[in-house]
Amino acid sequence: MSKTAIITGASSGIGQAAAKELANKGFSVMLAARREERLVELKKEIEDAGGRAAYKVTDVTSAEEMKALAEATIEQFGQIDVLLNNAGLMPLSFMNKLKIDEWDRMVDVNIKGVLYGIAAVLPHMEERKEGHIINVSSVAGHDVTKGSAVYSGTKFAVRAITEGLRQELDPAMNIRATIVSPGAVATELTETITDKDILSAFSNGPSMEFLQAEDIARAIGYAVEQPAHVDVNEILIRPRQQK
Ligand code: NDP
Repeated sequence: MSKTAIITGASSGIGQAAAKELANKGFSVMLAARREERLVELKKEIEDAGGRAAYKVTDVTSAEEMKALAEATIEQFGQIDVLLNNAGLMPLSFMNKLKIDEWDRMVDVNIKGVLYGIAAVLPHMEERKEGHIINVSSVAGHDVTKGSAVYSGTKFAVRAITEGLRQELDPAMNIRATIVSPGAVATELTETITDKDILSAFSNGPSMEFLQAEDIARAIGYAVEQPAHVDVNEILIRPRQQK
């Protein structure tokens, strides 16, 4: 039986690229996000290239939907070897704009979504004594900048949760936890920004060559293909020109 990976946020950017990377490495991939048409397209693309893929429309802010995603994966592919908790959003804003709805949304997707993912797969992985949970944080999970307070808060939380999980995992079991922390990657992520001051600071900021989603996908591929005694704790990747 081939190994299986669940990828949240598979409908664009890093999740989409990671799904293709893992499928190329022989994983059966379960694609999860809210936009069904994107998942249908990606499933077809992976299958046309000779890979195995299924999808389930999932909102990561629902613990029930995340549980159903894990169950559907086991039903379809027999097991879950990897969970890539990648879904996220980044509506950066200055605190005094009081964009409370956006703060709520970031907490719900970026933190609770990751927790619900862990809850959905951990019992299965402990039962099998095998598995790998990879959580996508950010350079913003290391450094706070003006406008990133809440987003950074969520990404610091992702790193804390992943590290705490890693420490608690039973060393007798082959279960691993990895943090992936990208710098600036050219994806749709900035489209959630509504604060005009942040947008104008972005457009007037220094230009640089961004990472591509595939650059992060390769890092995820590296983490999953290590031998069982190796746990890649964190991979931090910036564009060469990002300070
Ligand atoms: P994209 O905007 O391209 O992708 C975000 C993905 O998250 C989409 O597939 C979207 O799918 C999914 N998503 C959002 N909300 C939900 C939800 N409620 N339920 C399920 N899926 C959801 O951005 P990236 O690929 O760049 O982002 C992926 C991860 O990488 C995020 O966690 C982000 O914070 C992190 N990151 C990105 C960086 C960058 O520069 N791009 C830098 C550092 C970290 P859909 O809308 O279909 O549900």
